[in-house]
Amino acid sequence: MRSLLNKLLGWIAGPPPRLRCDRAVWTSGVAELARRTRGCSQESGAYLLGTRLSDGSSRILEFVYYDDVDPRALETGEVTIRQTALPRLWALCRKRGYGVVADVHVHPGSCRQSYSDHADPVMPRAGHIAMILPNFAANAPEPGRIGIYEFCGEGRWLDHSAKGSGFVRLDGRA
Ligand SMILES: [Zn+2]
Repeated sequence: MRSLLNKLLGWIAGPPPRLRCDRAVWTSGVAELARRTRGCSQESGAYLLGTRLSDGSSRILEFVYYDDVDPRALETGEVTIRQTALPRLWALCRKRGYGVVADVHVHPGSCRQSYSDHADPVMPRAGHIAMILPNFAANAPEPGRIGIYEFCGEGRWLDHSAKGSGFVRLDGRA
């Protein structure tokens, strides 16, 4: 009976989103990414750390900014993480008990993937989600106005951008 009820509720609510994030965490993270573009003069980005939920979605709990992991990550204007900086990220994940559930970075213009975004995934692992915020993350962009791409392995990606909050849901009041 209970499983039938859950099934019915599932049909009404639709499939769970792939990612969830408290609106407060998202809003402050995106504002910080905008700040780190230093007045729209460079890209910025972050690993999104969190945990896997029982319904198969993941919850974003923390933004870890690329330039905190690697002080030279933003030097060229386009985000570049040196492999030598990654042990710092893994140590933080262990300390928190989190995993990397997605990544996000800022573009000067559109939220479409650049050649290097497409060719060099931040986490080259099938199922990894990469988000792109347009216009240097100005005006607090939310799912529906951002790029959402899933790496499928072997150079292939799925574009989930049009699904917006059906794919990346922000919980809490707007
Ligand atoms: Zn990019």
